[in-house]
Amino acid sequence: MTIPDLRPIHAFLDERHALLAGEASDFAAREVASRPEPRDDDAARRDARDLLARVGGAGWFEPIQNQDWRACCLVREALAAASPLADAVFALQGLGTLPILFSENESARERWVDAAIAGRAMAAFAMTEPEAGSDVAAMATTARRDGNSYRLDGTKTYISNAGIADFYTVFASTEPKAGGKGISCFVVPADTPGLTFVRPQILSAPHPLGEIAFKDCRIPVLNRLGEEGRGYALGLRTLDRMRATVGAAACGMAARALEEAFAHARSRRQFGKPLAEFQLIQEKLARMATDLTAARLLVYRCAWTADRGQARVTLEAAMAKAFATEAAQRIVDDAIQVLGAAGVMASNPVDRLYRAVRALRIYEGTTEIQHLVIAGQLMQDPGA
Ligand SMILES: Cc1cc2nc3c(=O)[nH]c(=O)nc-3n(C[C@H](O)[C@H](O)[C@H](O)COP(=O)(O)OP(=O)(O)OC[C@H]3O[C@@H](n4cnc5c(N)ncnc54)[C@H](O)[C@@H]3O)c2cc1C
Repeated sequence: MTIPDLRPIHAFLDERHALLAGEASDFAAREVASRPEPRDDDAARRDARDLLARVGGAGWFEPIQNQDWRACCLVREALAAASPLADAVFALQGLGTLPILFSENESARERWVDAAIAGRAMAAFAMTEPEAGSDVAAMATTARRDGNSYRLDGTKTYISNAGIADFYTVFASTEPKAGGKGISCFVVPADTPGLTFVRPQILSAPHPLGEIAFKDCRIPVLNRLGEEGRGYALGLRTLDRMRATVGAAACGMAARALEEAFAHARSRRQFGKPLAEFQLIQEKLARMATDLTAARLLVYRCAWTADRGQARVTLEAAMAKAFATEAAQRIVDDAIQVLGAAGVMASNPVDRLYRAVRALRIYEGTTEIQHLVIAGQLMQDPGA
């Protein structure tokens, strides 16, 4: 694996990034890429815990704690190219930990952040519900104040790391009639009485996912992250930072697919010459490479803007996530076409990417929601 190629995004990187990208890529190739794909959901869950310890133990979650967004993108590109499961583990450490970092809740930070960054504690981010997907403000999970504690009741669905996480960052309504302005955020240790893992939800790609439920689940007021009613804002701030990194993961998967397609097109001969000499194949490869470069430019522009200290990168992040995840889907699909039957064999790395890349257009806000965000931002500030 020769990923990532830093030349197209050079203008957005500092010198230290070249070193970091090379090291991340070496680590991913050495420790992650060679792992066989887990055979079933139980194996994927064990593998995710093992990857957590390895990736965290080697220090690769540190850019999350340092809020170094370009470094987060480079690490996700490298991990995703080697193993979409390893990338998902990284993503959830970010999603579950950033609300704690942003809220400046010292006791939660002491208990969870160092452990999460070192790969000793697995994080999860519990926002989605059966009746509240894109429409987050419609959530029905409640957190009712009762003296020095809150009582959580409700169900969360499609939660990554459900059943294997050590702690959940949970969004619940403290004032149900207030919609988004009545949502608060809490950190809930996985062993809290009243929190149960209901069932796994099985994807076509290895990715631990599932449903959790809260029934009279009591947590101390100290576990609230930020002010009451400000949880939705904390969630949005987290997504604002993480969405470009989803785009980076998409680029990592796309770059790996493009590399496999190029290698195949050069070596496979039909009609007496390599596939790479047919113009219809060249057209595909050219489009794939152009899409990938455009996606990476949007991703690193966003991360660079965030690293420069811009408080919100809502527009940049929505453009980066929507474009990169859609482009990656096209690139991986075209790679399969170039590979022919070999590309749809379950053992082929491109087939693995094909099954994994699809979900990126859905989680952390679907493409349609990103487009609504972009249009909303442009209407507020047409010059943007
Ligand atoms: C692999 C995976 C991992 C996930 N991990 C997590 C996790 O860790 N934590 C978590 O909280 N959630 C997680 N999710 C859930 C994810 O965030 C939701 O699936 C996503 O927000 C969309 O919600 P939904 O699936 O209910 O779709 P819906 O909201 O029902 O949308 C269905 C379709 O309608 C479109 N749509 C909805 N509203 C509009 C509109 N106003 N205008 C136009 N189109 C619209 C959507 O874009 C989509 O195409 C995960 C999902 C997946 C697939």
